[in-house]
Amino acid sequence: MTATAVPTRATTAEPRHGVVRNFIGGAWVDGDGPLIDVHDPSTGATIARSPLSTPSAVDLAVAAARRAHPRWAATPIKERVQVLFRYRALLERHIDDLAALIVEEHGKVMAEARAEILKAIELTEFACALPQLATGEILEVSTGVECRTERLPVGVVASIAPFNFPSMVPHWTIPNAIALGNCMILKPSELVPLSAGRIATLLAEAGLPPGVFSVVHGGREVVEATCDHPGIAAVTFVGSTRVAQLVYRRGTSNLKRVLALGGAKNHLIVMPDAEPEMTSSNVAASMSGCTGQRCMAASVMVAVGGTDDIVRRVVAHARALVPGETLGPVITAEARERIRLAIDEAEAAGARVLLDGRRATVAGREGGFWIGATVLDGVTPDMRIAQEEIFGPVLAIVRASSLDDALAIEARSPYGNAAAVFTERGATARYVAERATAGMIGVNVGVPVPREPFGFGGWGDSAFGVGDITGRGSMELWTRTRKTTTKWNREAGTNWMS
Ligand code: NAD
Repeated sequence: MTATAVPTRATTAEPRHGVVRNFIGGAWVDGDGPLIDVHDPSTGATIARSPLSTPSAVDLAVAAARRAHPRWAATPIKERVQVLFRYRALLERHIDDLAALIVEEHGKVMAEARAEILKAIELTEFACALPQLATGEILEVSTGVECRTERLPVGVVASIAPFNFPSMVPHWTIPNAIALGNCMILKPSELVPLSAGRIATLLAEAGLPPGVFSVVHGGREVVEATCDHPGIAAVTFVGSTRVAQLVYRRGTSNLKRVLALGGAKNHLIVMPDAEPEMTSSNVAASMSGCTGQRCMAASVMVAVGGTDDIVRRVVAHARALVPGETLGPVITAEARERIRLAIDEAEAAGARVLLDGRRATVAGREGGFWIGATVLDGVTPDMRIAQEEIFGPVLAIVRASSLDDALAIEARSPYGNAAAVFTERGATARYVAERATAGMIGVNVGVPVPREPFGFGGWGDSAFGVGDITGRGSMELWTRTRKTTTKWNREAGTNWMS
């Protein structure tokens, strides 16, 4: 959604967080590229400057990771996760300052920032449990002949992150990858580079050996160097579909494992029998949480039949959100402009604006990138606002004549992250769950994120590659298996398979 940032002229006053540095081989290293300003989206003020590193920083990080890898891979998994047990305790101890940093660099409200750290803790807990799950298998396949499989790390791996969850999305990959014996290089979004530094500090404090985890700041050049580097075996990407496709194509053409998650356009189907209060509060929370900057956000509400009471309640819940208090800003002035234009265009095409957040401001923070919750009714499936990812607190309501009509509208989207149905009828819920074209389905749940040990991952243009990025499924991504066949019984002789 965001263009790679353009270097700005360095300002004279030192911003609050100074100049961000890369973390390579256990040491803080100056970036070797130009610096860009990092903004607090709630004020527009510059809070740090961050380097757009060059491919040589990737070279350094890969070299450090390769040096660390043999020892880390040979460390028993039960010992490796001891670091993560300590790290989990540090996350809990530092939740207030970690959340405050997210509020500052991303703009989301404190409750949402704390939720992000709580999720990072849950993801770390899952990684701590990997010794119980990542065991191999053994079977006597003929008399005196056994087959055994083991999970081994793939080597040096990389994780490329988006702006919208500065801590949670990096934690989708870091704990599992390192628990399974890999060395990881993180490339955070250049719009929110600060949380990654705290992650590196706390992992080091927890006892992670130098080189097992590195951070290289930058934009497109670092991403391309990561996809090209022969020393990197696997890459994960989370971000927009356009860049996910670039990364998937480039990484796989360099013969790497790649899992690239892209954008989303999630449809919430609301039936006339849905429980009005629960449904309306869930829909409003899904479209507005993190100011709509979530790949799991409700984007389109497909209202089937007589649902006017629910629509009225959705608008009331959305109207109650107060920018600057319960609703954060969006990430940049450009993002706000793009969202305003999408609303303008939908209105011009005939949509009715039931709630208009286009002119929202916050007294004393007029420089922030504010936009209020917006609800549009009478949206038709062919309008741009019904098709493209908006990534702001905007709900498009499309009216459907039947459940099958609603499912056909959902199926038109090339994305396939999430879909949900709100109904009191089990048969209807099942009908939708079996037909919606998305990897994550909600039944009376507006943000159907599967929690550990289940894996996170969509379908269609929302994910490229095999498997899920979290949970049990991620074990396939972060390991390769060794299959050993052994014969101890000399009398076993030979048969057709030996
Ligand atoms: P983005 O695609 O602009 O950026 C993601 C990463 O790619 C950043 O690290 C950025 O530096 C890098 N990048 C940007 N342009 C590049 C280019 N041309 N070449 C190489 N690298 C490039 O995404 P964003 O705006 O940071 O994040 C929002 C997007 O992420 C939304 O589309 C959202 O749906 C998606 N997202 C998806 C999921 C999911 O699980 N599917 C989760 C979170 C966010």
